[in-house]
Amino acid sequence: MPKSVETLPYSLALPGVQALTPYAPGKPIAELEREYGVTNIVKLASNENPLGMSLKAKQAISAAIPEGHLYPDGNAYSLKKALAQRHNVELEQITIGNGSNDVLEIVVRCFADASCEIMYSAYAFAVYPILTQAIGARHNIVPAKNWGHDLDAMLHAITEKTKIIFIANPNNPTGTWLVDNDIQRFLNQLPENITVVIDEAYHEYIAKAEYASAEKYLTQYPNLIITRTFSKAYGLAGLRIGYGLASPAVTNLLNRVRQPFNGNSFALAAAEAALQDNDFVRQSVQVNSDGMQQLETEFIRMGLDYIPSAGNFISFDVGRNGNDVYEALLRRSIIVRPVGPYKMPNHLRVSIGLKSQNEKFIRALQEALSEVLPKVLPEALNEK
Ligand SMILES: *Cc1c(COP(=O)(O)O)cnc(C)c1O
Repeated sequence: MPKSVETLPYSLALPGVQALTPYAPGKPIAELEREYGVTNIVKLASNENPLGMSLKAKQAISAAIPEGHLYPDGNAYSLKKALAQRHNVELEQITIGNGSNDVLEIVVRCFADASCEIMYSAYAFAVYPILTQAIGARHNIVPAKNWGHDLDAMLHAITEKTKIIFIANPNNPTGTWLVDNDIQRFLNQLPENITVVIDEAYHEYIAKAEYASAEKYLTQYPNLIITRTFSKAYGLAGLRIGYGLASPAVTNLLNRVRQPFNGNSFALAAAEAALQDNDFVRQSVQVNSDGMQQLETEFIRMGLDYIPSAGNFISFDVGRNGNDVYEALLRRSIIVRPVGPYKMPNHLRVSIGLKSQNEKFIRALQEALSEVLPKVLPEALNEK
């Protein structure tokens, strides 16, 4: 086949898409079974809830099955009503997403194109660069401070082309969080023609006194969008449901480009039930804080540096190639997340699991670290 024909469909794609590296999700359990022939796999790779799904959510899904042949309520009235109550906002301030990832994408489609610039921090959530790249916008990547967002540097880095700023609080994969005072100061100084998204996917887990959700600033800043998800503390990652909170004007715009039925019937029903199941969320947060303490204690004992985290995961420095340790863990039936694509080649991110899962992970990590040795530089060998 002549080369031009072979490369034709590729070259037809937008330049941004041609240069796009797709999102690398955590390895699915079934894939590891298939590829490595291992069993009893512990997956701590995607920040999923180790308690599973609330029983109330399961019951809500069962109850919705008889109407599975009908389109869902495109306005998601029932779920929005529950969310409006929870957040003390109007229904007109809520945008439902097929996961909060969907809301992030809707924001980009609403406010930016290839002539614009989108700003995010170094080490920030991988979806922000992907959305930026897909539309061919300029990446304005602001260096981090102690692995976290440097809000002052972000304000300084604003240019005339900056249209959207993404901020994850807490951030994934670093787990770093921003304090309320700093957010308020940032919003105060932010030009009103820039849309800022504060991504609070891990809000339920944060237990830091100086932290507060940015939701209280919604009335004051019409250019502020907050995203939340049911994928993490609510345990509904497989159902794909999240939402955005914003001013009525911005919400109106977001809902123009939203797919009409982006929240499916089962996800809507489960989310509404999960939202009311306070016991389940409380239990999830408790398991997480216990597990976080357990892993921190083990990392300290093993002499491994970690980045203190406010989420349901923690990134730690293995002092050698993270990918090699990741592979060694796979052979021991443990799936964690390599963060090389984030330019953190010596780190791995592990999701907090149940006590027994965390124990298995630590045992496997000890073995993996004695198998994968740090690379000794040739100069160091010469000195001996
Ligand atoms: C997990 C995560 C999300 C949520 O994604 P969903 O599409 O809602 O499953 C959003 N932002 C960050 C920073 C995350 O880590």
